[in-house]
Amino acid sequence: MNSEVLHVLVVEDNPALRGQLRSLLEARGHRVEEAADGLSGLQSALADPPDVLVLDLGLPGLDGLGVCARLRAEADRHVPVLMLTARDGIGDKLAGFDRGADDYLIKPFSGDELLARCLALSRRHRLGAPHVLRIGTLSIDRRRGEVHRQGRRLDLQPTGLRLLLALAEASPRTLTRSELNRRLWGEDAPASDPLRSHLYLLRQALDRPFAVAMLKTVHGVGFRLEADA
Ligand code: CA
Repeated sequence: MNSEVLHVLVVEDNPALRGQLRSLLEARGHRVEEAADGLSGLQSALADPPDVLVLDLGLPGLDGLGVCARLRAEADRHVPVLMLTARDGIGDKLAGFDRGADDYLIKPFSGDELLARCLALSRRHRLGAPHVLRIGTLSIDRRRGEVHRQGRRLDLQPTGLRLLLALAEASPRTLTRSELNRRLWGEDAPASDPLRSHLYLLRQALDRPFAVAMLKTVHGVGFRLEADA
């Protein structure tokens, strides 16, 4: 059905789950590498960057968060990370996104869901140059800090760009106000609500010139970025 072949690196310390993930992915023709701990996973990811890194949060030694942080600091391209986390780890999940995970799955999850997420992540990141993230007609060049939509260059302020990147990395997931605040300002979120004005400015630049709005408000929850094509 899908002819796309992915190179997936699975970093999971539970041998049974690691084996299941390998079988599942290989059954669909994907190429799988494994690591049982964070440090060797990080070394593999840096030596031969996979299309998707499936990364367990709870690992001996360097945990999933540590792997993510070091990968983001040391890799010369963006490696999409799908974090696997236990159900009780909601706080961990948020911290995971802060350190650069692109998506997460809560254990136990279905094989189909994992495959779908891997394909979506890889597609989002591998079209075009390794530093370009695409959603619909929107492309964000992380290295140059340039954003285009429908071929038109968008003029964004640095904070607007960081806001857009946070939303784009999470897309189509919704980010809450507190997640966005933490992404922009860490633990030192300003007392006033500058997020609102940054969202307003982002909308002006991103959506106003176009027929379809990509930045959606999810009432009572937060904000999400939706593909326009
Ligand atoms: Ca584990």
